[in-house]
Amino acid sequence: LTQRLQGVFKNFRGKKKITENDVLEITKEIRVALLEADVALPVVKKFIRNIRARAIGVEVSEALQPAQQVIKIVDEELTAILGGGEVALGKSPKIPTIIMMAGLQGAGKTTFAGKLAKRLKDTENARPLMIAADVYRPAAIEQLKTVGKQVDVPVYDEGTDVNPVEIVRHGLALASEKRHDYVLIDTAGRLEIDEKLMDELIQIKAVAEPTEILLVVDAMTGQVAADVAKKFNETLDISGVIITKLDGDTRGGAALSIREITGKPIKFVGTGEKLTDLEVFYPDRMSSRILGMGDMLTLIEKAQGQFDEAQSAKMAEKMRENSFDFNDFIEQLDQVQSMGPLDEIMKMIPGMSEIPGAANIKVDEKDIARKRAMVLSMTPAERENPEILSPSRRRRIAAGSGNTFIEVNKLIKQFNESKKMMSGIMNGDMSAMLGGMGG
Ligand code: GDP
Ligand code: MG
Repeated sequence: LTQRLQGVFKNFRGKKKITENDVLEITKEIRVALLEADVALPVVKKFIRNIRARAIGVEVSEALQPAQQVIKIVDEELTAILGGGEVALGKSPKIPTIIMMAGLQGAGKTTFAGKLAKRLKDTENARPLMIAADVYRPAAIEQLKTVGKQVDVPVYDEGTDVNPVEIVRHGLALASEKRHDYVLIDTAGRLEIDEKLMDELIQIKAVAEPTEILLVVDAMTGQVAADVAKKFNETLDISGVIITKLDGDTRGGAALSIREITGKPIKFVGTGEKLTDLEVFYPDRMSSRILGMGDMLTLIEKAQGQFDEAQSAKMAEKMRENSFDFNDFIEQLDQVQSMGPLDEIMKMIPGMSEIPGAANIKVDEKDIARKRAMVLSMTPAERENPEILSPSRRRRIAAGSGNTFIEVNKLIKQFNESKKMMSGIMNGDMSAMLGGMGG
């Protein structure tokens, strides 16, 4: 998305209101981004319609460009659809809380059961019991037992010859007797949805009356995930979704499709094969991942939060007119410093990670203090008209600020680059901006 957006940014110069055309243009790019992230087509269409309706005519905040403003709206909508905030696991008023897994084979049900058992132990000091109700492959039971050993949680099983519904019944009886506070039921999956599997899950649900039926979905399955979620939700009325394998390079568009199609909250995400690789689902993080924006959105927010509107409007005007001077330079140093550690801000800029050496850019706060001293040693006339900084003036500034002539030259060079970079930002030219920073 980043590269496409660079083109779009160019077309928005100094506008005050988002026009229909702006929105059309940028939502075209957002549409492509969503499809590339594997969001299901009907979901994309609906989403884009909503964005268009909401964005047209919106006032552009002084701190942002119209394109950024639209992206902010897109991000807010996306976050809202993904659930707004995180949703906790349900808990039964009387023990045990029963949690049933569902999903296709290989989605990560067994692994997730282990991860969740560990999490419950670690965070609530819980005593879970896991039930092995996947009787179709002997290896599946062994796998759950191995996981159980790793997290030190008992596993109830009856081998492969007993009906899984009966195994669940017996396992629950044992859980009551031993006063386990959680029961995690690991179920079988198929390579694709079939009626026998669904029937079995319906029966297990009827016997267990679980507090949570968690649909485990592999993020890598993209478009297919939406159909799977629809079918499972219609059949089982699931209570939540777990998205696994988000450690892969998928952008995770499945999350948006599933959420939109089922309306059920995504509760956790799996981020690796290890039993510690489980994270609570945060809609805002998922949104920027789906958009492929790096942390551009965070940057937009920071920019909006920190920049005094009037001041930044003035600055923007100066940059557009190219009348940026050393007074502004100092002001800019102050503002950027108040946004937080500079190297972190750099990391948030999309495309930055692709620039060789960019990760190593370190910002030296002492260096900033030295620069400030040099600027303060300039006369007001020099600050406003840097062109007049002749070698003799530069030598005077060096002496006055306790720096060398070379350092003063470096500062002026950096100022000129910074000026180029700022006008790059204003004119939507990301590469000029990045060039300026790298230099
Ligand atoms: P099940 O058939 O639904 O029970 O799926 P499994 O739990 O057996 O997982 C299938 C495969 O996916 C195993 O090799 C797991 O190690 C792997 N897996 C599960 N969750 C994750 C995850 O979040 N990230 C990665 N990289 N692999 C996972
Ligand atoms: Mg399994």
